[in-house]
Amino acid sequence: MFDVAIIGAGVVGCAVAYELSQYKLRAALIEKENDVAMGASRANTAIIHGGYDPATHTLMGRLNVEGMRRCFELCEELDVEHKKTGSWVVAFDATQRTTLEMLLEQGVANGCEGLKILEGDIVRSREPNLSDDIVAALWIPESGVLNPWEFTLAMAEVAVRNGVTFMPNTKVCGLTWRQDHYEIKSHTIRSALNMSEDSSFQQEYHRETDIIAIRAHYVINAAGVGSDLIHNMVAPPAFEIVPTRGEYFLLDGTAVDHLVGSVVFPCPTRAGKGVTVSPTVHGDFLIGPNSEVVADREDTAVTGGALRDIAQKAHRVVPSLNVRTSIRNFAGVRANSTYGDFFIEKSATNFIDLAAIKSPGLTCAPAIARVAREMLQKDGLLKEKRDDWRGGRRIIRFKEIPEEERDAFVRENPLYGRVICRCETITEGEIIASMKREIPPVSIDGIKRRTGTGMGRCQGGFCGPRVMEILARESGRDPLSIEEDGCGSTILIGRTKDPRSREVSSE
Ligand SMILES: Cc1cc2nc3c(=O)[nH]c(=O)nc-3n(C[C@H](O)[C@H](O)[C@H](O)COP(=O)(O)OP(=O)(O)OC[C@H]3O[C@@H](n4cnc5c(N)ncnc54)[C@H](O)[C@@H]3O)c2cc1C
Repeated sequence: MFDVAIIGAGVVGCAVAYELSQYKLRAALIEKENDVAMGASRANTAIIHGGYDPATHTLMGRLNVEGMRRCFELCEELDVEHKKTGSWVVAFDATQRTTLEMLLEQGVANGCEGLKILEGDIVRSREPNLSDDIVAALWIPESGVLNPWEFTLAMAEVAVRNGVTFMPNTKVCGLTWRQDHYEIKSHTIRSALNMSEDSSFQQEYHRETDIIAIRAHYVINAAGVGSDLIHNMVAPPAFEIVPTRGEYFLLDGTAVDHLVGSVVFPCPTRAGKGVTVSPTVHGDFLIGPNSEVVADREDTAVTGGALRDIAQKAHRVVPSLNVRTSIRNFAGVRANSTYGDFFIEKSATNFIDLAAIKSPGLTCAPAIARVAREMLQKDGLLKEKRDDWRGGRRIIRFKEIPEEERDAFVRENPLYGRVICRCETITEGEIIASMKREIPPVSIDGIKRRTGTGMGRCQGGFCGPRVMEILARESGRDPLSIEEDGCGSTILIGRTKDPRSREVSSE
């Protein structure tokens, strides 16, 4: 029996797990996918929002600045890649300038510091590639960007290190209150290989589901776009998720001399914060997102029409921007809802909703976790802190080791002398180290999210097969079972029978 079960291992669930791991209690983190950060927390603009945008009376407005400051602290504590770039909201005419004034006032009310409205020429002296048509911009110095999946993973790793049980491939499908605890009915999602009789050629992939029951005194719903479904298992419907897709271009930083040094937003409209031009922690640039309501909660397709629209909007702000330098397109789905704000409520006995966490949910996650902790404390849980809690996290990134120290480092750690990802200079040593951490990767993209392999210009074209070999070898798995990403995304389809061809193997 767990004291608390958290449903959903996105940034919100993992921030809660991190917070709870500091107390004496048994907690479970239940996730339907095969890794943490598989929903909105991995496909977003990665901005640590400054806090000027959400209306002051909303939960988003109340939690943004606290979350933003805590994000930067956590990134330092947990060695998560981040940059405090600052951000701009640009205005093209007098009406939009009035919007800047409103945003400045709102930002001050929300607790932002250092906001300023600057004239177009001054803005361009700091960001020379911005359009000559920009008449003024709001400067938000406290904001920046981070690596969103590393941030999520880092909090989860510390939680697991301190006793939280991570349950991947476990989809919650029912919740029943039984006098003093919830029975959490779940499907286990498993992959299996079906080989032909001589085990040489055919492979079939199965998603097998077993029903298992997990018991917990308290349940926290952090299920993102699925959070209304979880809510409805224990309480009357109170909100409905309106899945809203956002698509992106990722521009290759090595092909673009310099685009912007800070995050650039257009003036927000009722549709949202608009198409952003933003640097990433890896030295690339993100362009997007658009905003489109989709029927399927997990529809992360990218579409020509949306990309054309995004390119056009981004050009208006940065005219020299060239989307032909794009190395990837992707999309994420926002958990927008009919409620309009974050839905943070105690909705049933021993049940807390951290639901409908739309943007700026990545930024607010640490503050949302603080609110959840206080709600549990009010209910008499979390009485005692652990005195053996082990926080912190340090990652070796070979490319960050100064040139003059590399030789000695490689002599001592020869695996760091084998570069596997050429674009991003990621070594075998880093890949193997990532497999020894608290939540080991199970897929090629799991290694990508932990080390940065495949993040560069070739997007894994060169290093993907080598990463697959290392993953299969180190985990003792058949390469045929290795997935690109989520459950069911195997890449290899079988072994060749031709003895002259190299057999697919881990050697
Ligand atoms: C396009 C886009 C751009 C954004 N840009 C920003 C930004 O720049 N800055 C910012 O602060 N915020 C941004 N956001 C918002 C931010 O990404 C989200 O608010 C945040 O990631 C939500 O985290 P979460 O943990 O609630 O949801 P998720 O990350 O979606 O996690 C929910 C998890 O629950 C799991 N789950 C669902 N149902 C079940 C079930 N039945 N059983 C078990 N597990 C289940 C899912 O698999 C998922 O892993 C953006 C969002 C999008 C989509």
